[in-house]
Amino acid sequence: MSAGTDDPGLAGSEPILETENLTKQFGGLTAVDGVNYSLRSKGIRCIIGPNGAGKSTFFKLITGRLSPTEGAIRYRGEDITELEPYERVRRGLSMKFQDVSVYPDLSVRENFRIAVQRHTSDYDDAVSDLLDVVQLQGKRDTLVGDLSHGQQQWLEIGMATAIEPDLLLLDEPTAGMTVDETEETGELIQSLADDGMAVIVVEHDINFVRQIAETVTVLHNGRIFTEGSVEEVENDEDVRRIYLGEE
Ligand code: ADP
Ligand code: MG
Repeated sequence: MSAGTDDPGLAGSEPILETENLTKQFGGLTAVDGVNYSLRSKGIRCIIGPNGAGKSTFFKLITGRLSPTEGAIRYRGEDITELEPYERVRRGLSMKFQDVSVYPDLSVRENFRIAVQRHTSDYDDAVSDLLDVVQLQGKRDTLVGDLSHGQQQWLEIGMATAIEPDLLLLDEPTAGMTVDETEETGELIQSLADDGMAVIVVEHDINFVRQIAETVTVLHNGRIFTEGSVEEVENDEDVRRIYLGEE
């Protein structure tokens, strides 16, 4: 593929990610309800929505951590609905989950080593690159349990990028962060996008959304409620209502 990374003219080409009628039921609850989502260009896109809107479930369906009740997922034109999570990872799809998934009793470097050793034999270079990307060189020998909350989140983002994904999904990467950490996280995500990654970020904080993304999708009750520029969405009265009603 030779398409430019941030060329809006990509609109006519094959989507990077597409879901069709994607649906997930848990018993009687429909957590994701007939979602048709399309990601056509690289760069950063956000998904927002109140608690329980189905954001995390949507991501888990895309990575294969959950199987849909109905619907299909296509990644770069290929139907991946039935693929195992590791097969999706192999195709360049990676995710940082909302819950923490690092090894607290190991050092930063050891955590990164675990993340890279599955797909490269050049461990040391790959680990060093990751330490640079997330700016944790100075903490490489620190036990992960001793990192600040923000640093742990960056470590996780780093681990998710270890496979050099084409598409990275980040579920609430700034949860629990200080204002400064949040801003640094925005810069980190921006740098990943500048390197040519497509990034979808689930986020609560509209100020953060404004910092990193141009296009936002609002999920509500498992459905796409609206989609548009940050400004359009922010000024949408119905969006304000669902947030005010449930926050
Ligand atoms: P969000 O990430 O937008 O806060 P989730 O995707 O986590 O929302 O959850 C959407 C809905 O699905 C919620 O009502 C939640 O309680 C429910 N849910 C999520 N995961 C499960 C599960 N494994 N089993 C049963 N219900 C679930
Ligand atoms: Mg969630």
